[in-house]
Amino acid sequence: METYRDRFIKMLRFEARQGYENNAVTGGIDHLNQTWPTEARLAGLVEATVSQVSDLLLKYPNYDLVQRRDAIMGILRLLGQEVRSLPALPVFSGSKPPEGNSSLAPTEAQKAADKKQKSTDPATLANPESPTSALSPKATSSRTPKPSRTDLVPSQADPIGLNAPATVIRGIGEKQGKALQKLGVTRIKDLIYLFPRRYDDYSKLKPISHLFFGEEVTIVAEVQSAKIFNTKNGRKLLEAVVSDPTGSLRLLWFNQEWHLRYLKPGTMVSISGRVESYMGRLVIMQPDYESIDQQQLHTNRIVPVYPLTATISQKWLRKTVFNTLQYWVPKVTEFLPDFVLDQGDLIRLDEALRQVHFPDNQESLKAAQGRLAFDEIFLLQLGVLRQKRDWQDLTGAPHTVSDAWLSRQVQALPFPLTKAQHAAVSDLRTDLARHRPMNRLLQGDVGSGKTVVAALGMQMVIQDGGQTALMAPTSILAEQHARTLSRLLTEPANGQEPFLKPEEVALLTGDTKKKERVELLSGLENGRIKLLIGTHALIEDPVKFQNLQMVVVDEQHRFGVEQRAALRQKGSNPHLLVMTATPIPRSLQLTVFGDLDVSIMDEMPLGRKPISTTILMPGLRERAYQLVESQVREEHQAFIIYPLVEQGENEEAKAAVEEKQRLQLEVFPHLRVGLVHGRLKPAEKDAVMLAFRNREYDILVSTSVVEVGVDIPNATVMVVEGADRFGLAQLHQFRGRVGRGADQSFCVLIPTVDDAVQNQRLQVLTQTNDGFVLAEKDLEQRGPGDFLGTRQAGFMELHMANLADVRMIAKARTIAEKLMETDPALESSDNRLLRLAMEEFWPAMRKKGDLS
Ligand code: ADP
Ligand code: MG
Repeated sequence: METYRDRFIKMLRFEARQGYENNAVTGGIDHLNQTWPTEARLAGLVEATVSQVSDLLLKYPNYDLVQRRDAIMGILRLLGQEVRSLPALPVFSGSKPPEGNSSLAPTEAQKAADKKQKSTDPATLANPESPTSALSPKATSSRTPKPSRTDLVPSQADPIGLNAPATVIRGIGEKQGKALQKLGVTRIKDLIYLFPRRYDDYSKLKPISHLFFGEEVTIVAEVQSAKIFNTKNGRKLLEAVVSDPTGSLRLLWFNQEWHLRYLKPGTMVSISGRVESYMGRLVIMQPDYESIDQQQLHTNRIVPVYPLTATISQKWLRKTVFNTLQYWVPKVTEFLPDFVLDQGDLIRLDEALRQVHFPDNQESLKAAQGRLAFDEIFLLQLGVLRQKRDWQDLTGAPHTVSDAWLSRQVQALPFPLTKAQHAAVSDLRTDLARHRPMNRLLQGDVGSGKTVVAALGMQMVIQDGGQTALMAPTSILAEQHARTLSRLLTEPANGQEPFLKPEEVALLTGDTKKKERVELLSGLENGRIKLLIGTHALIEDPVKFQNLQMVVVDEQHRFGVEQRAALRQKGSNPHLLVMTATPIPRSLQLTVFGDLDVSIMDEMPLGRKPISTTILMPGLRERAYQLVESQVREEHQAFIIYPLVEQGENEEAKAAVEEKQRLQLEVFPHLRVGLVHGRLKPAEKDAVMLAFRNREYDILVSTSVVEVGVDIPNATVMVVEGADRFGLAQLHQFRGRVGRGADQSFCVLIPTVDDAVQNQRLQVLTQTNDGFVLAEKDLEQRGPGDFLGTRQAGFMELHMANLADVRMIAKARTIAEKLMETDPALESSDNRLLRLAMEEFWPAMRKKGDLS
């Protein structure tokens, strides 16, 4: 197995091959130091070596190329490596990249020299040689130094600069550097990409006399006075009066006397906030404000407002960004090829970066934001398409079945398939008959009958001699599937022989006993077992199949691109089917799930009664309890869900624990109340769920752990407390836990507070049972991060783009597809910088590339 040390050495050698540009490791070579000291000590290296290497790693970004090569040689030597073969330096001639900390901030002389060289060297203008060619691997490894123009080429020729720590910028000391880190800024590049959180447009200022109640405004005014009052209930009220030529306005703060320091009479301030009313007069409560000078007002009509942390001021940050842009933006290379710029109708990168910070006007701001958002979406698309292409390049084993065979299997089912199920089965049949592995997402609302579709797919593979596996997120779900599938496949039905023998189906979970496990593993290896059902364990454990041909992953909408890629590497390119009940909006289908083919089941089996959903104000909670009571009297069961409290899982569990006590003792003393929450161990959770299904409890109190597709057909009531804290899609999932049997089911949503606006949002749930409608609404309301509930691959890089912007996404996808048609690996010199950008954006891509 490859050790940490092997990988470490490989990284360094790769960095050398790349020309010491400090881009072999995401985040820079110095990031290796996050793991190095610990790993090295574990491996028993002497302390002196550990710290010498550490030192070199940390200084690496600030070194010039010569020093970097020395550093890598030094480290490799310290690790007992042969270094004679280390690549020579790239042919940078003329200007050396800046050395050391202080000199990275341009001196006046340096700037002047830069300027002179640029304007006087006719070659820059005359020679069309692209920046990329000078940087291409060929040029880098060439040993005969040629005269080069890289020093005149903006940026990428000088990535060292943009990746240098922000602290090398003049005016950013250690203290400010720390503060910036809190904003995610460590490198110069990060500062350039630290986008304003909003803008104050001084060309559209409102005069005070024109303000009205409820409006969000920005005004500029002069501080007249600021005083502190004691209110009746002992709080300190700070009241400032500000005025402009049209009138005056009050600003109020409670218990924040320190503002007094900044609100000196005569100071001009810009103030933003919502106009409210206090004691019958218009005021702004706790406004955002800053002092401004007249000049700022006149020269910059649209002023950026940055996110801040405690120790830095808006003014300072604005100035620092401004200065940084002045010097560094000319060094930023355009990485999009002309083709993309044209097709996308985009402005150039340097212009976009300037305008996004200090826009000339609203139009150029829009154009800049559009360009920068496009970059993110486009890089995401390229990565996704690359995954898809890699996938399609693989060969899988085809499995074909006859019409007669298929209709026999369908006949054997206890119910006729819905049209949607038929269509999905037919998609699977087509995929499985191909010579490349299936990569399909089966999307169908809770209860639409996905399991039987997956079963038919697996039967197609099994009848051809292949093995199949179904993976569920929890062991209770795995057990449920095992039961359903065994009944479906190993019991005689409609007068037909069963499809499988009982010993051909097996269940593997964390609870599987050792003896059973040994037997099971051998059954997989010798091919006796045709269908294995289990949790993640079945992929993670050293489980060996004789001939695994298809994997089904159930209820896993959080299964991103990277995990799928990992799964693919598990074995012999099995066919893959991912199933989810969470409808995935189109914008996400084109991005995070863009490498998958999709089948949608938008139809419910006949005879389902729609769940009756109501919203109940907290004061009327009793009614929900009455409903629970009456349903239990009719031999049914109920869920009561408690919300995720912000303080974290512990708090959430605590709330559920306390509520369970209360319900048991005070509300339902005569009923059996069970409890399940996230702090329980998986086995404990499963035990409770099992008991609930076996009707050992009437009511199950739960935190959101119950979300996943547990099937308890006898449960007919779902009460969700704190419903306003959940997204619509998640509430719909909760609701889907009931209504799975033949009886009328109920869902009662109880918001935390009686707030019309908040609760308006929930109304949609009473109006539709359509998961798709709800998912789109949810995405609109909460954004994709929340929607997926996790940091999906690629999402963290999205600062500007809006994943709900389907138009932009579709455009980026079309262009990415066109580009990849002509240059799938992005190898041409036109596309090289784009490829580098993509690899930086998408670390997983790199892992699969040169390094693996
Ligand atoms: P989900 O899509 O949520 O995973 P399941 O596969 O668990 O749904 O199916 C839900 C229930 O509907 C199961 O009890 C299943 O047997 C039943 N079912 C599936 N397809 C049909 C159908 N075509 N007609 C009637 N009942 C069906
Ligand atoms: Mg299911």
